[in-house]
Amino acid sequence: MTYHQDRFAFNDGSTTVREKLDEFLARIEERSALNAFITVDADGARARSAESDERFTTGLMRPLEGMTIAVKDNISVRGMRMTCASKILENFRPVYDATIIERLNNAGAVIIGKTNMDEFAMGSSNETSAFGPVLHPIDPTLVPGGSSGGSAVSVAAGLCHAALGSDTGGSIRQPAAFCGVVGFKPTYGTVSRYGLTAFASSLDQIGTFTRTVEDTAAVFDAICGHDPMDSTSAPRTYPSSIAALTDPLPDPLRIGVLPESDLEGCDHDVILAYRATIERLRALGATINEVTLPHRDVWIPTYFILATAEASSNLARFDGVRYGYRAEATSEDVMVAARTQGFGTEVKRRIMLGTYVLSSGYYDAYYTKAQQARRLISEAYASIFASHHAMLMPTTPTTAFERGAKNNDPVAMWLSDLFTVSANIAGIPAISIPSGSDAKGLPIGMQLQAGMFQDALLLRIAAAVEASFAG
Ligand code: GLN
Repeated sequence: MTYHQDRFAFNDGSTTVREKLDEFLARIEERSALNAFITVDADGARARSAESDERFTTGLMRPLEGMTIAVKDNISVRGMRMTCASKILENFRPVYDATIIERLNNAGAVIIGKTNMDEFAMGSSNETSAFGPVLHPIDPTLVPGGSSGGSAVSVAAGLCHAALGSDTGGSIRQPAAFCGVVGFKPTYGTVSRYGLTAFASSLDQIGTFTRTVEDTAAVFDAICGHDPMDSTSAPRTYPSSIAALTDPLPDPLRIGVLPESDLEGCDHDVILAYRATIERLRALGATINEVTLPHRDVWIPTYFILATAEASSNLARFDGVRYGYRAEATSEDVMVAARTQGFGTEVKRRIMLGTYVLSSGYYDAYYTKAQQARRLISEAYASIFASHHAMLMPTTPTTAFERGAKNNDPVAMWLSDLFTVSANIAGIPAISIPSGSDAKGLPIGMQLQAGMFQDALLLRIAAAVEASFAG
């Protein structure tokens, strides 16, 4: 059930927020093998659901009244343990709410708990968590995608109405595609990151998982907007994206698509789904143009240089002294011991790579080059969106892969982000929507991207594609 469907039931009294919440809590228990949650706050959620029920009775409902939301465990909720799925933060309790949590609370949402993830959001398979892997809801031998795998699974398995994730290079869209739910990464700067544990600050963006584009739009409307606590937050106001869902589509609707040669290496079923989605867009009246996105060969290297460089700097704060895991060691060794024992392999790999690309001898060869490449990629997108409303591409080259398949080959793992990193590099909004399944019955996701701050338009187009599947 989507939130909007349940809201009708809350409104007409046929069910209560508390009953719905209890259903979710029971299902979390039933499906605990999925390992989707690190922390469940049943008592806190029950208290909030009572307030929501009261408001449905008195008619004072807020925009997300009674929406049960799970939060990725790198977003701060006051008093609730936040681990980032790392041993180094295993007992850390933040003392303040992230701005988006405050906004969700003010909008009437019910926070049910914190979801499992790749350690510090580094990964594409949810296998790097210190709390164990998250399993795919359809087949436990497969990965759910990462790094927001717990959030994707919690929506796909019906453990909540919606979930928050963070997307630095695809961590919302890729698991959304693998699990068959809607995953949205808004424009950089639209949603405050105050209270999000930074991984790569120039790329990180908080976004959502839901079952439908309509639910996505409702959450986005509640959480977007300027926040003086986040210096990268854009000082703008946004049109209601829920209202925009009923606007007519632009006429003519111009969509850019990749030439087939750019789909090399994709599963055959993903290519078929891509072609089918193009036909759906054509049936909606869209003009389809083949667009060559320049510099595709440098997307992944650019992303991994920038992301690791920023991560090595952001993660310096986890020193085992100020907070988090404290190692048994003499004073000089305490930091080395805490970091050695507290961080997992992938995080260490990123920190080492990041310090290397920032080191004085290699800075220009790697970091400066990556920044130049970033500018070219952003400019290429800007020129495409000057004449197109959106760009369509697959979200991932394959459907969900086997657990363990890529653990010994970091480059193969990193390549699963082939189609997602560019949106973060350019800061543009992007959404993955469920678009059929492969021969094994595994979900396939298609991705739409739009120009900076065209989030409402992107959701409008995504809703039209989604409706074409239902019809
Ligand atoms: N999978 C990518 C990485 O490992 C993206 C992670 C993310 O978006 N947080 O860096």
